[in-house]
Amino acid sequence: MDTTCDICHHTTATGRYLCEACAYRVRAWLAGLPAQAVLLQRLLAPAVGPAQRGGSGRAHSPLPVDLRVLDLLGAGHAVPLEDPHGDQTGGVPVGALLTGWAHYIADDILPTVYFDERGALRRVGPASACPRSGDIAGWATWLVRYLPHTVTRPYAAELYEQLQELVARIERLTHTRPRRRLRQAPCPDCSAFALMEQETELHITCDACGHRLTPDEYTAHRDQVMPALTALALRMITPRTTAA
Ligand SMILES: [Zn+2]
Ligand SMILES: [Zn+2]
Repeated sequence: MDTTCDICHHTTATGRYLCEACAYRVRAWLAGLPAQAVLLQRLLAPAVGPAQRGGSGRAHSPLPVDLRVLDLLGAGHAVPLEDPHGDQTGGVPVGALLTGWAHYIADDILPTVYFDERGALRRVGPASACPRSGDIAGWATWLVRYLPHTVTRPYAAELYEQLQELVARIERLTHTRPRRRLRQAPCPDCSAFALMEQETELHITCDACGHRLTPDEYTAHRDQVMPALTALALRMITPRTTAA
């Protein structure tokens, strides 16, 4: 069975279409959507004051809302798979995209039939796309819960790409970027002090050469190299005592 990630082409566990790092990103995007929706709601507040009568003659008052924001928060139809190779994401609102995918995935989880200990025929599932709350947070949580199933299905990359596109559209409007933090230790591959941690990424990645480390690998590497580097730095900044 193929063990190559459909998105980044790194190795996946058997039977997965997304690797651990790409699945991590999907989870982080979904988890970040409720906060992004709050920022979008704030952007919906009228950008201009009330139109002034008898002013200097503007024919129409400016639109009080940013239509791109309205587009993201409004109702609409999600078309996740009718045109898998087309560009269907443009204009699909957040809520419609999430509910569309949740229903699609729920329908894809086949019911299982089995005999119980008394020999009676039992059925399990299918799953129902029914989150605790019907808002963006509820649907995003549902999709995160079923992500372990989703990554085993051929459409996982399609969900990835649509979420990536959605999050990019939102970030352009809210002017937000995932938080990044420079880690202390130098890169084990190129020695540059350029190892960056980003909140949507599983790996700590070198900005200079692209080398990546899992958090555990980074901790082991840091514990190995930092004591000697710190001692060296201390020797360099401590003034030497000279004999009188
Ligand atoms: Zn991947
Ligand atoms: Zn490097």
